Amino acid sequence: MAQGLRFVLFGSPGAGKGTQANLLRDRLNVTHISSGDLFRHHLEQGTPLGLRAKEYMNKGELVPDEVTIGIILDKVMCLPDDEGFILDGFPRNTNQAQELENTLAAGSRNLDKVVHIDVSEPELLRRLGGRFVCRACQAPHAIGEGEDGAAKKCGQCGGELYQRDDDRPEAVKKRIEVYKRETMPVLGFYRERGVLVNIPGDDTVDEVNKQVLAALGA
Ligand code: AMP
Repeated sequence: MAQGLRFVLFGSPGAGKGTQANLLRDRLNVTHISSGDLFRHHLEQGTPLGLRAKEYMNKGELVPDEVTIGIILDKVMCLPDDEGFILDGFPRNTNQAQELENTLAAGSRNLDKVVHIDVSEPELLRRLGGRFVCRACQAPHAIGEGEDGAAKKCGQCGGELYQRDDDRPEAVKKRIEVYKRETMPVLGFYRERGVLVNIPGDDTVDEVNKQVLAALGA
């Protein structure tokens, strides 16, 4: 089998990483690894990891590296050598990016691309305010103004939709602040390595998807 693509979907909360990852996973036949989905899954199950992560997630802060890095890198390194992956929500600071690079290199692997979906702040705020996610499969859904998201069902699996605690206005403000301070420097890290591609992300889901596929050469 040909080597699958290995890439990071990078962007602010609300940039559409989860939505694009769901489309790309099926299209490119790669594994989707989302740090946020993993934490939410643990939270739903009430595991010690979930309870630890919750303290940070609800405040819009990053879960500490000593918790996050190990579980994500284990998932990546458990994949068969030729299997491609999408990392969504990881890395979120330069330490995570460096640890990812070291671990991949130790397994003679590398990242093909880091795709930055660049969305303007007013658009991010609009999207996060109307975002509901599926409790079962975590698929994000855009809910229009005046619509009751909780009364709708997931378009992918029919599961119940809910608004994440960290999509409420106070936490959103904090998450965007944390993104600018801790996560944006990761762009420089990947720019230096020549793997970064910027995609304007205010457009429709389909248009952004086309551009991401083109950036990946897929
Ligand atoms: P997301 O679904 O990617 O927006 O992530 C939701 C929350 O999970 C974030 O606001 C953080 O609290 C936590 N989280 C997700 N990914 C990471 C990461 N790579 N490092 C630290 N915390 C993370």
